[in-house]
Amino acid sequence: KIYVLRYGHRPGRDKRVTTHVALVSRAFGANGFILGDVVDESIRRTLEKVVDLWGGRIHFEMGVDSYKYCLEWKRNSGLVVHLTMYGLHVDDVVNEIRNTGRDILIVVGSRKVPGFFYEVADYNVAIGHQPHSEVAALAIFLDRLFMGRELSLKFPDAKLEIIPSPRGKKVRRITRDE
Ligand code: SAM
Repeated sequence: KIYVLRYGHRPGRDKRVTTHVALVSRAFGANGFILGDVVDESIRRTLEKVVDLWGGRIHFEMGVDSYKYCLEWKRNSGLVVHLTMYGLHVDDVVNEIRNTGRDILIVVGSRKVPGFFYEVADYNVAIGHQPHSEVAALAIFLDRLFMGRELSLKFPDAKLEIIPSPRGKKVRRITRDE
């Protein structure tokens, strides 16, 4: 089980980026997206709309206490991976992380992240040591974790499916009794 915890979401400013974190979680193979500490129905609605059309199942929670969530995750023998440019280089630790075979909670921040997450994390992981984006960091981490296979995922119960096309857009509507 791979969940993503988004810490520090500010409903006024972060809607687009947090939505993208949620969509990357789903598209790149995570099973859960947790919006820590705040409630923002617009994030839930967007994720639900995408799941309804494009399929898949992703567990969603919001307004939960991020600190308690991490502690509870660890109590259930899960691993906490905090993505930060100050951490260890992803290529030096991702195999070790994968080989644990444990559930993983991936924490991404928005602005400054409190020291708590650096402490609680089993791994502080850097996607390179330059400042960039939670969306990019999450995508690259999941891609390394799943060794690229996530880009070929098929999502159950999809209503739409893309037919790859060199030009233009080809979308097939999937009917229920197929
Ligand atoms: N300046 C903030 C800090 O000191 O932590 C980082 C803000 S950054 C826009 C938001 C989030 O993106 C971070 O909390 C982290 O999860 C992720 N992030 C940005 N660059 C990263 C990198 N090079 N490696 C891993 N995660 C990164």
